[in-house]
Amino acid sequence: MLAERWLGRAQDHKSGLFLIIERGIGLGMFLDGKPVGGWHAMAGELGHCKVDPNAGDRCGCGARGCLEAIASSPNIVRQYLARAGLRGRRSAGLGVKEVFERARQGDLAAMAVIERAGDAIGLALSHAVNLLNPEIIVLGGDVLGAEDVLLPIVRRALRHYVLPNLTEDLKIVMSGLGLDIRLKGAASLALRKSLEDGPLLRTICTPLVMRHGRVAALTAR
Ligand SMILES: [Zn+2]
Repeated sequence: MLAERWLGRAQDHKSGLFLIIERGIGLGMFLDGKPVGGWHAMAGELGHCKVDPNAGDRCGCGARGCLEAIASSPNIVRQYLARAGLRGRRSAGLGVKEVFERARQGDLAAMAVIERAGDAIGLALSHAVNLLNPEIIVLGGDVLGAEDVLLPIVRRALRHYVLPNLTEDLKIVMSGLGLDIRLKGAASLALRKSLEDGPLLRTICTPLVMRHGRVAALTAR
C-alpha cells in the first residue's frame, strides 16, 4: 500500500483502497492521507467478508462464503478445474494466469469462474466504498495482466452495488508496480521509518554518501 502511495498509481490521491489478490486477499487503506491500521493492525481483512453466506465454498479461516474462498488465486483455479471437469494430469500445474488466458479465448468454464470472482470482488469492495468513499481502488497481485477479463466485471459490480454518487469519479485500476509490490512496500516503509529517525538515517546514509562521494571522485578523474 505504501509503495502504491509513494511510487504507484495512488500518488496524487489522498484516499485509496489497495486490494491484493494472491493465495489470500487483503485490503490496504489510505484515508485523508493516512494509512488505516486498526486496533490490532488487522484492518483490511476484506478476504474474510462474506459475499455469499449460503455458498459451500470453504475458506481457510474455517467459514464458508468468504471473498477469499471464491476469488483468491487457488480458489479460482479450484473452481475452474471443477467446472471444466479436469482432474489429475490434465490439471497439473494449471495456475490462475492460465484460467485468465482461457477466459480470454472464450472457454466458458473459465469465463463463468471469473464472472463469479469479479462479481464477488466488486460486492466486497462495494461495502468498503460505501463506508470510506475512496478516490481510487488499485488491484494487484496475481490479477496483474488480467485487466481485460477481470476489471470490467469488477467495475460493473461496483456500479451495481455502490451508491451512484460514490462511483461517479471513482478510479479502478491495476497496479503498475509489478509482482514485487510487497518488496517495494517494505522498502517504502523502511525508508519512511528511517526519515523519521535521525540516528537511523545517519547510520544508513553515511556509508552511501561516502561510497557515492568516492564514486563521484573517481569518475571526476
Ligand atoms: Zn474466511
